[in-house]
Amino acid sequence: MASKPARYAVVGNPIAHSRSPAIHAQFAAQTDQDMVYDRLLAPLDGFVATVSAFRAEGGRGLNVTLPFKTEAFRLADSLSPRAALAGAVNTLVFDGDRVLGDNTDGAGLVDDIEHRIRLPLAGARVLLLGAGGAARGVVQPFLAAGIEHLMIVNRTADRAHELVRDLGARLPAADAARLSAGGFDAIAGSVHILVNATSAGLADASPPVPAGAWSDVRLALDMVYAAQPTAFMRAAAEAGCPRIEDGLGMLVSQAAESFALWRGVRPATLPVYAMLREQLAAARPSA
Ligand code: NAP
Repeated sequence: MASKPARYAVVGNPIAHSRSPAIHAQFAAQTDQDMVYDRLLAPLDGFVATVSAFRAEGGRGLNVTLPFKTEAFRLADSLSPRAALAGAVNTLVFDGDRVLGDNTDGAGLVDDIEHRIRLPLAGARVLLLGAGGAARGVVQPFLAAGIEHLMIVNRTADRAHELVRDLGARLPAADAARLSAGGFDAIAGSVHILVNATSAGLADASPPVPAGAWSDVRLALDMVYAAQPTAFMRAAAEAGCPRIEDGLGMLVSQAAESFALWRGVRPATLPVYAMLREQLAAARPSA
């Protein structure tokens, strides 16, 4: 008798918009894996119960999205070093009666910049806008990729200072020395890569990047993705930035990293990125 396909899903609230099932279906077809991947809507007060029910039905792993990444962090029995530093989990692996928690967001962003966009991170000076969960998750992967300096600025400057203090205390001294923090008014010095990890784009707003900060920027990347350029991407274009990207590549690469954890095989991201980009463009309302 044929065995049942391995079950995976993405859990969040809301979840109907998630592109993860389409991404993982492509990965599974590409690597010939016998698996299914669904969407799971968890009630806001029912994350743990939803995960337990999924495991009881034989589920093998979950991606976790807003607003449950911190709850997933608490639920995991053991954490990868990068998830422990991020304080958030976006991937759960069910291994017998153990639950392993990982965070693939930062590795996804690094992979997208280095392998699709093809910009080396080693030696780069990076400015990260935002100090929420997404920003926190990319700090260690950026440092591990060999950047020269990472400045984290946030609308609420105290939150950026707190993030750098907290991570700085847990990272090796040489890594902590490559971090600095402030508010938007503290942005200074030459920047090569500017990453928007704020959610300002969801309200079609751009964080206030001073005009002088753009002069050496080789890449501006907004973690938010959309059919149309976001407000931050439009600001980058007005400033003459030579390379402007959204967060679609990061989304596909973080999914590939989760898939590799579950299935032990790394799928190719470029064809899946191209398919999603086409779908997004086709969904764009005509002018
Ligand atoms: P979060 O924890 O809620 O943090 C939101 C951040 O945005 C905070 O730093 C907040 O600043 C800032 N912010 C919100 N509105 C702003 C505005 N109008 N002007 C300036 N700053 C503003 O959210 P998150 O989990 O970090 O996610 C951030 C974004 O990244 C989301 O849009 C998410 O969709 C995206 N993301 C994308 C991927 C991907 O794969 N592409 C993965 C993860 C996240 P304050 O602290 O001052 O409130």
